[in-house]
Amino acid sequence: MNKIQEATQAYFNEQLSENFQRWEFACKGNPCCGRSAPISQELVDILQFLRSIFDVPFIINRGFSCQIHNMKLQSKLTSDHCLGLAADVSVPPGTDIEDIKSTALHWRKLGAFGIYDTHFHIAVRRRESDPFREWDKRVANE
Ligand SMILES: [Zn+2]
Ligand SMILES: [Zn+2]
Repeated sequence: MNKIQEATQAYFNEQLSENFQRWEFACKGNPCCGRSAPISQELVDILQFLRSIFDVPFIINRGFSCQIHNMKLQSKLTSDHCLGLAADVSVPPGTDIEDIKSTALHWRKLGAFGIYDTHFHIAVRRRESDPFREWDKRVANE
């Protein structure tokens, strides 16, 4: 392995917290930014806080999205995913996502929480003054 490959591997394998490594948050587009993963440590910290309390696997479906990939997803360019401030997290069936949300609300910098049937969207605030945003898109509730 050459020096560039070593550095790349070290970047992706970086342990950001007890249960999360940087590659889990990398952009899933291809081709675009080469799976870059500039993710907020604050976001990782809140995820670790929740992961430790609920003690179930958290699968990061989407962490950072670069502008090119974001366009393909037809997501807003102002999306928190583009700033590395948001993640979409799948949890095992039967996990009480509302319970995860009420626990997440204890985190002062929580910026958004969206509930879906099998996953949740979570984001940290850009600025202290940002309003908290929340939504519930579970099919059963529509
Ligand atoms: Zn990308
Ligand atoms: Zn999201």
